[in-house]
Amino acid sequence: MSPPTDTRIRETRARRIWDSRGRPTLEVEIVLADGSLGRGIAPAGASRGSREAIERRDGGPRLGGLDVSEALAGIRAEIGPLLAGRDALDQAGIDAALIALDGTPLKSRLGGNALVATSLAVLHAAAAARGLPLWRHLAGEGPVSLPLPDIQDFMVMPLGATSFDQAMAMTAEVYAAAGALMAATGRRQGVADEGGWWPVFQTNEEALGLLVRAIESAGLRPGTDMALSLDIAASEFGREGRYRLGLESRELDTAGLIALLGDWLKAYPIVSIEDPLAEDDPAGMAEFTRLHGQRVQIIGDDFLVTSAARIAQAAALPACNCALIKPNQAGTVTETRAALEAARHAGWSTVISARSGETEDVAIAHLAVGWNAGQLKVGSFARSERMAKWNECLRIAEALGPAARFAGRDALPPSHR
Ligand code: PGA
Ligand code: ZN
Repeated sequence: MSPPTDTRIRETRARRIWDSRGRPTLEVEIVLADGSLGRGIAPAGASRGSREAIERRDGGPRLGGLDVSEALAGIRAEIGPLLAGRDALDQAGIDAALIALDGTPLKSRLGGNALVATSLAVLHAAAAARGLPLWRHLAGEGPVSLPLPDIQDFMVMPLGATSFDQAMAMTAEVYAAAGALMAATGRRQGVADEGGWWPVFQTNEEALGLLVRAIESAGLRPGTDMALSLDIAASEFGREGRYRLGLESRELDTAGLIALLGDWLKAYPIVSIEDPLAEDDPAGMAEFTRLHGQRVQIIGDDFLVTSAARIAQAAALPACNCALIKPNQAGTVTETRAALEAARHAGWSTVISARSGETEDVAIAHLAVGWNAGQLKVGSFARSERMAKWNECLRIAEALGPAARFAGRDALPPSHR
């Protein structure tokens, strides 16, 4: 590590680039007085929590209303001048200044997309100035671990792996086996936004059954070597206690959905379940946690929106036992870290997560290792914006050498290992 030189911000650049869905997004570059460069890119979600930081998009007819020219103008006119001359090592001070400059509760004025790209660019620039990989800059001298990968949306988790490298190889086998089984039964349509197979099934349980068979046909033991993990994303199909299951054309109330998911938990080797009830159903989340929280990891995504305050409220209910951590839901690095700490304080596990709209940016792999988050979810096992993150973890593991610890099943809440 070289001693930090002049780490004041000399220049803030911003440009429009394109995400994995071919939609506009923001890239920010921060250049320091010593020449160090940091680059941050905003991802974009599809299933969004109503309380997460709001992206600034132009609206109007062009590019589906998704262009970011106003957010870009805001970075150039306001954020650049605000940051000029500030010390990039003062991440908390810079994030606080960004939040104050925006001045709205959900960052809607300058845009959560503008803020998160800027905040991450500052973080990268600081690491570059110190001559450190990002994960080491975040971790300091403390111990780090490679995260347990979580491969979505009907997901698998390689619980039996003893290294990140082995976890990837096991996942590759199951991904290929699942694809082959779907193709053999004429169910394979293609690949979805997050790299998962896009099949046609009559019911959700058919998909669960196929995954178990895929694990077996890869020569692995379901539940022991490779377990299932589900992102229900219930806010996508439920409001005010009514849930419409499109695939099965039926409507359930909160109790009905809880009962259905309870049946799945009994019948399949599921170790983790995300947003089982909608974000406006805290009572349902609390009931689900009361019933299953000792046995299954219950993750809040749209329900918690990477907010330290919402995590503390949920922990008091209690609802959930794990927080999904998405930097662009929070909007700045400092708030993202605070959410992670709030989850830890509650005794929860944590999962650093990508969005469905992603780019080649691999910062979250470093956050997962450097903050010892335990788990990382970046999508499935195809599409380079997904694979870039998994591959970065392999590079980090190599850099750590024999010291590389793998979180493995210890990443789950204590009672679930
Ligand atoms: P997103 O959700 O589409 O909002 O990014 C992804 C996820 O929760 O896995
Ligand atoms: Zn989710």
